[in-house]
Amino acid sequence: MRKNWISIVATLTCALFSINTWATDNAVILLYHHVSDTTPKLTSVSPDTFRQHMQYLAENHNVLPLKQVIEALQNKNPLPEKTVVITFDDGYANIYNNAHPILREFAFPYTIFVNPPLIGEVDYQLDWQQVKLMAMQNASFANHGKQHAHMLSKHVGESQQDWLNRTMQDIEEAEKILEQNIGYSLKYFAYPYGEFDEQLKTRISSQGFIGFAQHSGAIASYSDFSALPRYPAAGVYGNIKTLAVKLNSLAMPVTDISFKDPKVELPFQQQIMTFSVKTADIAPQQINCFQNGQVLNKSLMQNSISVEINSITQPGRHRVNCTAPSMRNKGRFYWYSQPFFVPTADGNWLD
Ligand SMILES: [Zn+2]
Repeated sequence: MRKNWISIVATLTCALFSINTWATDNAVILLYHHVSDTTPKLTSVSPDTFRQHMQYLAENHNVLPLKQVIEALQNKNPLPEKTVVITFDDGYANIYNNAHPILREFAFPYTIFVNPPLIGEVDYQLDWQQVKLMAMQNASFANHGKQHAHMLSKHVGESQQDWLNRTMQDIEEAEKILEQNIGYSLKYFAYPYGEFDEQLKTRISSQGFIGFAQHSGAIASYSDFSALPRYPAAGVYGNIKTLAVKLNSLAMPVTDISFKDPKVELPFQQQIMTFSVKTADIAPQQINCFQNGQVLNKSLMQNSISVEINSITQPGRHRVNCTAPSMRNKGRFYWYSQPFFVPTADGNWLD
């Protein structure tokens, strides 16, 4: 009898543990730039829309500080269900004027990635006094490079190694200026324009930095911490209905990705991308990949998926998004995004 009880308790514990782990090993990071009615639509939400987003988060999600979420995932500690992190890039003054008061009302923590040498230097940027005040009121600050440059851009005649050293130096110097002004160094770096390549992400990682990008997707303990996805929440992405689907998304556990380097050159011909999915919660035949709103052809071999990526003819930032419904949790989707960064024919990068 006693043995039976032990086995029942063990079975129940296992069942509970497996229910909990799949969802609590997950979080979503939102990315905002401007919160204003008068800034470019593509990178802005109005203060009214921002309030609507925060109200939705208050009713449906757990908003936690970035540091707490990253540390939990790295240490494989559980997170509350439906954890969300709020981040901003660029350090615009309208965050202080329009977003900060709303965030304070909801008592939400948030993180701003800034270009430290620009703080207080131009009128559309935060100044250090505002940064310090916000830091005392639930905001944390992190690194977005010194000058918001296209980091993949090389100087004329610059070797690969010199480019990598110069870029890393830029990031280290930005981190120092931040630390001198706010008194701590998170070593969190958001790639300007979300652009990175294999070498840069390997380098920042080897220097102890965690990288944040702008391709979409949830994050989990099995994510690539040198380029974590974030969901842009501005412009057309600000619609609360479509945003809600993303806020409920799960990180697709993808391995053996055939595509290693997101930096590609034109001409980029149609080609096959393969990857494997490691979870019983996804039926591989239900994975769909999209490029420019078009469903891509795919073929399956057990858990390995081959997707036909269309040729890319224009420079700029492109992505293939793959989604699949969770079988255990109706209405929730796994998400995986593969970005492509393409320079112009003469090696320039578009804003
Ligand atoms: Zn930026």
